[in-house]
Amino acid sequence: MTKEDHMFEQPVSEWEQAFAMLYEHRMVGRTLGEVWLGALGGFSGMAQAIRRSEYQSLATSAAEALQWVCLFTYGCSHSRAGSTLHISNSLSEIVAISYPGVCGRCQSVPCACDSLAIDKRRPWPLNLKLLAHRREQLGFREFSFGNWLQMFTKIFGGRVQMMSLESVGFHLLEEATEVALNIDVLARIDQYLDRESDAAAEVAEATKSIEGFIELYSALRGEELYARDLDPVSYAPSSVLASFLQAKAGLLVGIADTFSWLCTALTKTELILNSNQALGAQSEIDQVLRNLYMGSGQSLRCPKCSSAPCQCNEFSESLPRLGRQHD
Ligand SMILES: [Zn+2]
Ligand SMILES: [Zn+2]
Repeated sequence: MTKEDHMFEQPVSEWEQAFAMLYEHRMVGRTLGEVWLGALGGFSGMAQAIRRSEYQSLATSAAEALQWVCLFTYGCSHSRAGSTLHISNSLSEIVAISYPGVCGRCQSVPCACDSLAIDKRRPWPLNLKLLAHRREQLGFREFSFGNWLQMFTKIFGGRVQMMSLESVGFHLLEEATEVALNIDVLARIDQYLDRESDAAAEVAEATKSIEGFIELYSALRGEELYARDLDPVSYAPSSVLASFLQAKAGLLVGIADTFSWLCTALTKTELILNSNQALGAQSEIDQVLRNLYMGSGQSLRCPKCSSAPCQCNEFSESLPRLGRQHD
């Protein structure tokens, strides 16, 4: 592998850092919900590209969506400790909870889930021991986008061949919207919580680490707690905590699923473009990201204003897609 090749394969965590530096001012003026709205803009661009069979702009929109997803997870990890949206782990670490090198549901490679059961929610919480073991074995922290695409191809490649790109796009939008709704619930709970209360203390404890959260969720048996305590008109601490656990679990799983469907959309596109090519390594997204955010230079710059850090005004930035045309 040449030095040049290696640059295409920088870890996702490095992209998170680099995008946060490039677009620091986007973070300052926005809530985390508004940052995710930028990602939704990218996903919507992907949906439009799928509808029009414009595969090149699909990759560009995917790169823009990934940039906003990276800003979101970076923002979560740098949010106030104890806030309901705080997540101390990187994007790869979040994805690894649901996909620790195997299908999160059946825990095998390739996925052996019953195709009729594929749409059912995967059991939560997942196996923390398996995650710890796999983390050590596979080193998710160093995973590049290309590594994730390869992994998802290994796990779901057979299934992807049977699905239409449109169906993949629907799954992607469904998961990304679910993330948005969970962010909204968590932001409301954060505003409501009295910082001095016991419920706030429990939330703070649960947001210190993903492992801590999963443990609390397991200990309280989140699903049962939810069924028992989620009274729609109640502000009792147990109801608030039940809502928090559900929304946070939904957020973590939703981020992982959104990311996996985004990777699947890229893999499926590649399959369509090379319909004779056997399933194999798909690392092109690193190159798309590099082309878009680095151009011919060696460092990141904004593709719209060509500056680093980005100097775009607030109004052009609210349109996350490049050169979008309506039809
Ligand atoms: Zn499976
Ligand atoms: Zn700019």
